[in-house]
Amino acid sequence: MSQILIVEDEDRISSFVAKGLRAAGYAPTVAVNGRDGYHLAQTGDFELIVLDLGLPDQDGFTVLRRLREAKNNTPVIILSARNSVDDTVAGLEGGADDYMAKPFRFEELLARVRLRLRQDVPSADTSILSHNDLQLDLRSRRALVNGREIDLSAREFALAEAFLRNPGQVLSREQLLSRVWGYDFDPGSNVVDVYVRYLRNKLGAARFATVRGMGYRLVSEDA
Ligand code: CA
Repeated sequence: MSQILIVEDEDRISSFVAKGLRAAGYAPTVAVNGRDGYHLAQTGDFELIVLDLGLPDQDGFTVLRRLREAKNNTPVIILSARNSVDDTVAGLEGGADDYMAKPFRFEELLARVRLRLRQDVPSADTSILSHNDLQLDLRSRRALVNGREIDLSAREFALAEAFLRNPGQVLSREQLLSRVWGYDFDPGSNVVDVYVRYLRNKLGAARFATVRGMGYRLVSEDA
């Protein structure tokens, strides 16, 4: 189980990321400032670091520079609200491996984490997710039912992707909200139900079963 260090001072973001990583089978540890982040990173216990730029003591750039100066080459994915081109360039030049602008969807971060850890690295074929006659091509962002292309919005595609990554599993509204909409969404919103309805209309109602009081589940249509 890969140990991942999250250096982030904002509680709601670190818990969102930690919860998602744990659900994906990783072992996350949170540091709430740059100094602790640096020291934890230097223990060598971590295979990946998710590093916020705006931290209360030393900022993420400083932490990253100190790590690289100390010849610590643990992969780093920078998280930042500052999404200017300058920051991206500075982050990558400073030795970051990847960059995520806030706000982001958890699935986007997870894709980058998987890529960096090069575990279950998708071979050419796993860029296509299939369930019965439904296929999602993650590269071209196309959805096919029985080989026929169905037009999905970006959000609908992301929601369908969350289901196809977890076939048969009950996904709660909260899980779907955080995976598809990110942490900036009001947990009381009914947006998940609305979008599940859209998917049912476009992809077939029987595919997405309602599990009363719990959420939704992708099922085989003939089940
Ligand atoms: Ca911050």
